[in-house]
This record gives sequence, structure tokens and C-alpha cells, in this order.
Amino acid sequence: NVRVRFCPSPTGNPHVGLVRTALFNWAFARHHGGTLVFRIEDTDAARDSEESYTQLLESMRWLGLDWDEGPEVGGPHAPYRQSQRMDIYKDVAGRLLERGFAYKCYCTTEELDARREAARAAGRPSGYDGACRELTAEQVAAYEAEGRTPIVRFRMPDEPITFTDLVRGELTFTPENVPDFGIVRANGAPLYTLVNPVDDALMEITHVLRGEDLLSSTPRQIALYRALAEIGVGGGTVPEFGHLPYVMGEGNKKLSKRDPQASLNLYRERGFLPQGLLNYLSLLGWSLSADQDIFSMDELVAAFDIKDVNANPARFDLKKAEAINADHIRQLDVKAFVDACAPWLTAPHAPWAPEDFDQARFEAIAPHAQTRLTVLSDIVPNVDFLFLERPVEDEASWNKAMKEGSDALLRTARARLEAADWNADALKAAVVAAGEEHGLKLGKAQAPVRVAVTGRTVGLPLFESLEVLGRERTLARIDAALA
Ligand code: GLU
Repeated sequence: NVRVRFCPSPTGNPHVGLVRTALFNWAFARHHGGTLVFRIEDTDAARDSEESYTQLLESMRWLGLDWDEGPEVGGPHAPYRQSQRMDIYKDVAGRLLERGFAYKCYCTTEELDARREAARAAGRPSGYDGACRELTAEQVAAYEAEGRTPIVRFRMPDEPITFTDLVRGELTFTPENVPDFGIVRANGAPLYTLVNPVDDALMEITHVLRGEDLLSSTPRQIALYRALAEIGVGGGTVPEFGHLPYVMGEGNKKLSKRDPQASLNLYRERGFLPQGLLNYLSLLGWSLSADQDIFSMDELVAAFDIKDVNANPARFDLKKAEAINADHIRQLDVKAFVDACAPWLTAPHAPWAPEDFDQARFEAIAPHAQTRLTVLSDIVPNVDFLFLERPVEDEASWNKAMKEGSDALLRTARARLEAADWNADALKAAVVAAGEEHGLKLGKAQAPVRVAVTGRTVGLPLFESLEVLGRERTLARIDAALA
């Protein structure tokens, strides 16, 4: 039975790297009919926030990445917030000490720094040197008498640690590269290095899929799992690990969570569809097939295999993300598209007053907009001419379309439009005829009409737009442009 976990720390806003990790774990669990455990790693009171916690849950809900155990849904290993599991960690740390898998380390920060410097200068490995590994009872008593408060340090085995990464293949870490490490602070607070593997063991996690940045902690965690098995914490199996590739942002630099481009909220506010964003993020290290970039979450789940994840860094490509999102927008049925636009059609996104919005007019134009949007927020500039009292004033558009002779053309067009049946075909014929009178092709003839009516040189198909806007408003706008 596959059991994976998504275990973010609630610090700051959710970012795309986090979402990719959540997605791959979710897809892996769903592909194998397994269980996704959502665990909150909030043992760092100084950095964690309740606001960030709430946002994490809400983001997962918005994305549609559901979990089987965790906050709000509960489960056999509750609680799923580490801040509520402190007694467990204390108990485990005590047992590790008792059995000699960990020891109290009395070295002060100054002493550690000084010895690290010396080791560096001498070209020796600069990790912890094991000074407190084998303290005698007298040495301990002396340190205690000095008033030193120890940290708890895990004793790494003296043999290399080898494991087969599901993405990278076999990896070996030698003892010189993985020194003994702290698991409990002097003030008694357990560290990530302890609580993460303890919970993985207790929650019977079978596969750990996470970012490459955590690769260096894996040999330590494997050693810890083995010790936990010895002291009877958890089911005794060491999970398999798969480390997901780095994501590179602008200028081929690692995308950092502080990068504005990395913020999940940015994509939500621009109107990415969850399925569009997830489709794109799944391509950061994985692909469905060489010739299919666009797919549904069902297709992703059916095909997802962690062994297909590529170890090479993935490049974040905003243009591609947008193109994929546009495709998902086009795939919606019109009703779903209309509903998806709703949040953008009111304040604070929309510049018109709520009473000026007209649902019927919107629904009439929606199919024309749907095929043209990259992100949902683009709906506003595309349809604002329908709901604003006057079209936006865009000087650049105006100067571009209103040339010498435009007034004459507009007058002719106005007269012909006034006489026409009010449907897109007849309106087009009217503008074509007006253009012919002035020796202008349709493209040139319709530009001043478009700017007079919509305020812009580009937009939705003009004659459908006029049809939806209505005769009276259209003629009034042309009059205003001529005034
Ligand atoms: N809380 C850790 C983080 O957000 C989890 C790392 C892991 O997946 O082991 O980095």
C-alpha cells in the first residue's frame, strides 16, 4: 500500500515549487490507489504562521489536490500538525538517548565555530568532530556543573549509506560527508531532522518525493529510520526516496520561493485555471509523452510514474504556462467558462459599477472571448466596452485608428449601421459598404469604428461585439467620437 506525504512548513505564501511537490505526491498516490498524507511541519514557532497554514489548506482546495489524511479530514495518525505532537518527539528523543543512538552534546556554539574554522584551515572535513560522542560520566558531570545545557545529537553510523533514489539511481554518502547532527535544541525543541523522519515512520510513509534541495538530509534520515526501527518506532521500513529536479527561473537561476514569479497567488490572481496551472507544473521534470503537452488530471494520474521524472533541472517558462492555460480555458464548456469569469466581473477587478453589469450581454459575448483568453483576468479589457458608460480612453489606440478621413468614414458607417438589421452579418455588410464608398478595405474601414465603440484597436470580433452592444449604444458612441 503506497503512502506518501506532502509536508510543508507554514511559512510565507505558497509557491510553485511547493505546488509541484504536492502535485507529484498526489499523482503518485492516485496512480497507485494509495494514500496522500498532508502533514503540517510547524515546529518552528518563530517562522510559522496561522495565516500561512490557512492559506496552504485553501490553496490545496483550490487546486483540487485532495488528501486522505491530514488537517480537516483527520485519520488514524492524527494529529497531523507537528506542533500538536511534541510529546511524541520528546519521548522518541529520550529513547534514542537511552539506547545510545543519540547522545548529549555540550559543545558551545563558540567552540564548534572555532573547531570548524581550524578544520577548514587544515583542509579537514569541517562537520561535527564527534567531541561529545564518548563522554565519561565525570566529563558530563563537569559540563553540567558549569551550567551547560546540552543539545541532543544523533550518532551517525560509521559505514557509508547507500540508497537507490527513484529519480537519480544509486547514491552513496560516506561518513566524512555526513557528520553527527543535532535533533533536539538545548531548550528542548525538536528539530526538523528528528520530527520529519519520526512522523514518516509513525505515519508509515512508503515513498518520499520531495525537492532536490533536501537530498543532503536523506542519508541522515535513513540512518534515523534504521534507529527508529531498532527502538520500535513505526513499522520499521525505510521509505524509498525520489528527489525532484530544481526549477530554474529567469536568467537560469534557481527559482527561489521569494521570486515574485514563484508565488502561487500571482497565478490565481491572473486567472490561471487550477487544471491549467497543474498541467504546466507537471511538466517541470515530467512529461506525458513527447508530443502531448496538454492533458487532464485524469490523464496525468493514469500515466504518472516517478521513474519517468527527469533528474535535470527544469526551466520555468511563463509563456508556455500561459499557452497551456489558454488551451484549458478553450476546453471549458461555455457555461463553465462564464462561471469561471464571474470573479473578474465584479470589483475589485472590474472597473464598472455592479449595476452596469449585464449577465445576458456577457453570455452573448462569452463564446467569442473564450477562444482568445490566455488568463481569465484578460476578460476585463475584452468586455469592458459592454458595461462601461463610455469606452475606455486609450490615446494610443485613438491616434492609431483615427486618421485623416476617419470622420467621413465614420459618418458613412454610422448611416449604414443605423439602417441595417442588427445582426453581425448585416453590420459587417454595412461597414464593408461604407469602406467601399471611401476606397477602403474592411480592415482599414473597421478600425475607426472599433476604436469609437470599444476604445481599443484590438479586441473581440467587431460585428459580434456591436450586435451584443446594441444599436443605440453603438450609434451614440460613434456620435461621441464625431463630436
Ligand atoms: N517541511 C519540510 C519542507 O517544507 C518538508 C521536507 C520534506 O519533504 O521532507 O521543506
